[in-house]
Amino acid sequence: MGLIKSWVVSANSPDCDFPLNNLPYGVFDEGQGARMGVAIGDCVLDVAKVEHGLDAALFAKPEWNAVMAAGPQVWDALRSRLTELLSDETNRAAVEPHLVPLSDVTLKMPFTVSEFTDFYASKNHAFNVGTMFRGPENALPPNWLSIPIGYNGRASSVVVSGTDVRRPWGQLKGPNDELPRFAPCARFDLELEVGAIVGQPSSGMVSVDQAEKMIFGYVLLNDWSARDIQAWEYQPLGPFQAKATATTIGPWIVTRAALEPFRVPTPERERPLLPYLHEPGPMLYDIDLSVGLAPEGKGETIIARTNYSNMYYSAAQQLCHHTTSGCAMRVGDLLGSGTISGTDRDSRGSLLELSWGGREPITLQTGEKRSFLEDGDTLTLYGAAKGDGYRVGFGACTGKVLPAIEQPEWTKEQG
Ligand code: MN
Repeated sequence: MGLIKSWVVSANSPDCDFPLNNLPYGVFDEGQGARMGVAIGDCVLDVAKVEHGLDAALFAKPEWNAVMAAGPQVWDALRSRLTELLSDETNRAAVEPHLVPLSDVTLKMPFTVSEFTDFYASKNHAFNVGTMFRGPENALPPNWLSIPIGYNGRASSVVVSGTDVRRPWGQLKGPNDELPRFAPCARFDLELEVGAIVGQPSSGMVSVDQAEKMIFGYVLLNDWSARDIQAWEYQPLGPFQAKATATTIGPWIVTRAALEPFRVPTPERERPLLPYLHEPGPMLYDIDLSVGLAPEGKGETIIARTNYSNMYYSAAQQLCHHTTSGCAMRVGDLLGSGTISGTDRDSRGSLLELSWGGREPITLQTGEKRSFLEDGDTLTLYGAAKGDGYRVGFGACTGKVLPAIEQPEWTKEQG
């Protein structure tokens, strides 16, 4: 499939993230209150204002949850109608007044997150981290090749791109410390992930095929992680406070329909999966991903480049597994893929791996070194599926690290 041409000229440029092939959904504010928008070229379309042909109630509240809940027929109808409105020149006069330049808007949370689950489903990442924590022989836990491992996180910690993230305090204990201490995190990190958004509810077990059809779209996701807090707290129940500071999502939901031409299969199985996890077809996507790090007031260095196809389990398999217990899923549930790492050093999706536990700091273009994040660092995730003469981009997912708060009195030793 090639570029679908739009009368919005900027949308036809091969390096534009938002051609007509994409039509990602977000929420914007140009100073008159938040509204639902669709990115096209260098603009956002105020979707409620055009002749969309759907129930106006779907656009009454500035979040995409009602559209998701309305189901796949509405998803398809909206996408076809938007394609018609933005491709056919005869609609231009009616639609153009409702285009707002992206440079004039602030982007808000695109949907209300119902619940957040995070996985651990890139084999290279699991192997790298396991090697650091337990040695290469025991790197992959015995269940890893059979189960898409995950934990239930918190929706309250999910924030939109552009939100500052404050370095957390926590309980730390180094390998040579006798006792833990309470201190600001010294090993604050990112996790390059893609989030899948559940657009249809379920009660009880669903198949991989059904799970796939429940997914509305995808966002970039940075799962900020406090590695020193994590190292002390993670056994036996997994991460808790280490992952609860913030998870930043990108402002644009790229729909499953937009990603359709970019399907790729999951890698070959190293151990046969149980039948319930078998995929009926290719369910991953070929999406180039990268991470930029800019120290305070300085230029950005791309510190990692990888691809979503490095996942061992697809989002559909993760969602299917999530329901095996009978766990109900809700519209607006967010599933983090887990850190996505490739096999090369510069394809690792976390500083923990890039600096190999802090032992091999990376050098930025500014000459500065980084093992973990420093105060004032701004991180930006990028993602795009590359077509023939066009790209389906996710926009930038950014966040800046602020210093830890002053130590609260009640956390100090009493003299
Ligand atoms: Mn994560």
